[in-house]
Amino acid sequence: MKNCPVSKNCGGCEYASLEYGAQLQAKEKRVKDLLSKICPVRPIVGADNPYFYRNKVHWAFGHMGPHLIAGRYAEGSHRIIENDECLLEDQECAKILSDIKNLAVKFKMQSYDERTKRGLLRRVLVRKGVATGEVMVVLVLASPVLPGKKGFIKALLEKHSSIKTVLININTRTDSMILGDKTINEFGRGFIWDELLGVRFKISPESFYQINHDQTEKLYSLAIEAAALKKGEKVLDAYCGIGTIGLCAASSCQGIQLTGVELNRAAVSDARENAKINKMEKARFLAADATKYMIETAEKKEAFDVVFLDPPRSGTTPEFIRACEQLAPKRIVYVSCDPTTLARDLKEFKKHSYTPQYAIPVDMFPFTEHVETCVLLSKLSRAPKLEVTVKMSELDITEAEAKASYQEIQDYVMENTGLHVSNLNIAQVKRKYGILERQNYNLPKTDGARQPQCTPEKERAIVDAFRHYKMID
Ligand code: SAH
Repeated sequence: MKNCPVSKNCGGCEYASLEYGAQLQAKEKRVKDLLSKICPVRPIVGADNPYFYRNKVHWAFGHMGPHLIAGRYAEGSHRIIENDECLLEDQECAKILSDIKNLAVKFKMQSYDERTKRGLLRRVLVRKGVATGEVMVVLVLASPVLPGKKGFIKALLEKHSSIKTVLININTRTDSMILGDKTINEFGRGFIWDELLGVRFKISPESFYQINHDQTEKLYSLAIEAAALKKGEKVLDAYCGIGTIGLCAASSCQGIQLTGVELNRAAVSDARENAKINKMEKARFLAADATKYMIETAEKKEAFDVVFLDPPRSGTTPEFIRACEQLAPKRIVYVSCDPTTLARDLKEFKKHSYTPQYAIPVDMFPFTEHVETCVLLSKLSRAPKLEVTVKMSELDITEAEAKASYQEIQDYVMENTGLHVSNLNIAQVKRKYGILERQNYNLPKTDGARQPQCTPEKERAIVDAFRHYKMID
């Protein structure tokens, strides 16, 4: 295991002293503690390489006596910790920042002093498109005039040909926002490109973009798999940012009708451009509050087949969830960056006709305590009204299950796909989709037990049979 020389002073990595396997266990346990009473929690998806994953790195600039210093702020403070060997930051981004610091000294640049409000250079933000190798540098200044600007930028570009754009951002704010309102493009096109799952994305200085490229691809793949999209379906990507989840979904299933909704106007404009560049012109992106959009759309009696939602840490709103019930999508895929607000929202969804089927934690942020989770929710078929009341326990069979026998499902799958599926396969898939299996199939009580698991191909075939027999929507 690699060790960080400054972890105690920095405080940015809560799990700095834990082996990676132990970190994954701790995160999976946290998600299980919060969600296992709500739905099954599958094993966490870890990173192949837990180091150097941050593709967005910013250092604060200040001074120690007469010397210019640069690095991360220690957790919860504005004390600058110098460290060229951070285990999270992309190594090329960190090297560029370190070179910028040396150039700033060479060009006699004044760093900004937060107390006296004097000086110029406040922060530098470096973003990298991991798939394209393109790098963006944003110099955050307290005022627009940077003496020696041309020579400084030229010297930087000579050292790093991967830098495709350099911008100056003016930040006169007194809060801890990294970027101010005004950005001036000094070199290149003002943005960089990256790719996720073969789809190209334009990244501007202000846009939200996941910071761990490889884990993002895994997370989105899981979300898209859960959505089980079909041609012609109407799909909503709520809290869509620059359109990443929706456009990746649209690329995986041609012919869906995609709408994205997002509050940040700059991100929406990027999303529209991303749709164009990827030849998905039919996708619509709207700048609006997601809850307001849902309520208005429900009032218009519109409908969606599938809803993705990926809200910020605060989660979504009860009004969004109520509007979902009216819009009645068959499947909802909730991507969350905070399992606490996720648990709260899933309980609310349960009150409004949606059953969480399973949750998969994904480790996007190794060495920190943060964890992402992807949850599939389905709308179960409404019960047909019965004249007489018969307790399901008396029949030892659930209502959805009563619609087709195991033999009928096996026959349907064989006829349509030529695959033989066992009773155990069917029971496993029933369990995953919240259709309780009969006691006598004797399934393991916990996930991950040593039973042969159903292959994705068989699972898809069984799910098709469930839909055919209207056991699920
Ligand atoms: N799905 C995107 C972005 C997720 S981050 C991705 O994976 O990259 C959450 C997004 O929600 C941010 O882009 C943020 O700007 C947006 N957001 C925050 N509050 C919102 C609201 N009330 N309505 C719509 N979008 C909102």
